[in-house]
Amino acid sequence: MEKTNNVIIESNVNHNKSGDILIESAEIVAVGTELLIGQTLNTNTYYLANQLTLLGINSYYQSVVGDNPERLLGMLQTALTRADLVITSGGLGPTADDVTMELIAKAAGKELVLDPVSKQSIIDYFTGIGRTVSDNNWKQAMMPQGAITMPNNNGTAPGAILVFDYDGKKKAIACLPGPPGELKLMFEQSLKPWLEQRVNYEFEHRFLHMIGIGESNAELEIRDLIERQTNPTIAPYASPGEVCFRITQRKLRGRAEADLISPVVAEIKNRLGQYIYEDGTRTLPEIVFALLKEKNQTISFAESCTAGMVSAEFGSIAGISEVFAGSVISYSNNVKEQILGVPSAILQQYGAVSKECAKSMASGVRKSLNTDLAISVTGIAGPDGGTQEKPVGTVYIGADYKGQLTFEKHMIRGNREKIRAVASLRAFHLAWRCLKEKSDN
Ligand code: AMP
Ligand code: MG
Repeated sequence: MEKTNNVIIESNVNHNKSGDILIESAEIVAVGTELLIGQTLNTNTYYLANQLTLLGINSYYQSVVGDNPERLLGMLQTALTRADLVITSGGLGPTADDVTMELIAKAAGKELVLDPVSKQSIIDYFTGIGRTVSDNNWKQAMMPQGAITMPNNNGTAPGAILVFDYDGKKKAIACLPGPPGELKLMFEQSLKPWLEQRVNYEFEHRFLHMIGIGESNAELEIRDLIERQTNPTIAPYASPGEVCFRITQRKLRGRAEADLISPVVAEIKNRLGQYIYEDGTRTLPEIVFALLKEKNQTISFAESCTAGMVSAEFGSIAGISEVFAGSVISYSNNVKEQILGVPSAILQQYGAVSKECAKSMASGVRKSLNTDLAISVTGIAGPDGGTQEKPVGTVYIGADYKGQLTFEKHMIRGNREKIRAVASLRAFHLAWRCLKEKSDN
């Protein structure tokens, strides 16, 4: 093994090599009292679980344990009887309650020794930030004998991978630091490449994203494909307002195999093409951004019930200033009238939540901000304000694309938070449809 640019590189890994391991199952153990008491959300387990799935490693249990040596040791021993690999997160810091490394050594029956590479990188880190190393920082350079150390390129605590015999079987423990930014980088740079060399299969994924059809209807349309599936497999999953199919082909690692995904994707597109907005991993706002850029056009928003959510989401994309002129948050009727120029007759006759108002908001903001496309959102997010005629969840999305006016009416079910989130998504969806479908001259 050699280290280049702080990334672990392995050459000629042979699964049968003595001392090495084939990994079929893994168990995540998140360490930290802050997780148990609900002070910190356990996002590390969520992230790692997804990564294991993408690597095709089975996971049957997950656990959280506090910074308590006895219970942590017990947890590690239990996990080692159930999985080939145990991944821990947290407890690698310099303070007395950070006991993970010590207990990993104990569980594996190894001594803790000072790792010179980690020692040097701790010195480099502190020198780099203009501070001196305090005594307890050396603790972070103590590694179980025989461990592979994983450099921490976002902090001080290095991680470790330890392979050992446990009850007559090969087992491995990998420990990662608690801060999510450190954990993710270390996983990406060190643990993931190490794991990829020790799994039998590799998985290729393709994602089809849909809007405008519910999960059960989408599944019904392709039920025969799902029932027939062995390889590739099709997994539908839904999030508020949209449905995604993940199509996964399992391949023997390192072999060139036929592409089994494309024919399945073609068949799904054949049946559900009208709902599919992305064959890939881009989000809807990112797609709208790409289309606007491609056409060299601009957009603005007029937001009522979403009160800036659409704009905030769009604003989080780097480089958005090329296409995004601005928005008007027109929550009150007064702003709709005074700033967007919605005629008071429309507000009186049809109300603020109406197709007439949505269209007028869109054309008003397009005119005043001088953009090619404008999208408006007006609706009843609840919990109050619904009527028989316009119940909570009634949302109108309006569009003005170079003077061509359109609208959509949606009845969104759920609480206020969900209604506003789905309304935002729908706003991007209408923008996408305008840019795809309508002539732009
Ligand atoms: P530790 O390495 O245990 O000292 O953790 C350092 C910090 O990382 C904690 O204070 C938390 O803010 C964060 N952290 C630890 N474990 C997790 C986790 N499972 N998910 C998200 N954040 C975590
Ligand atoms: Mg901790």
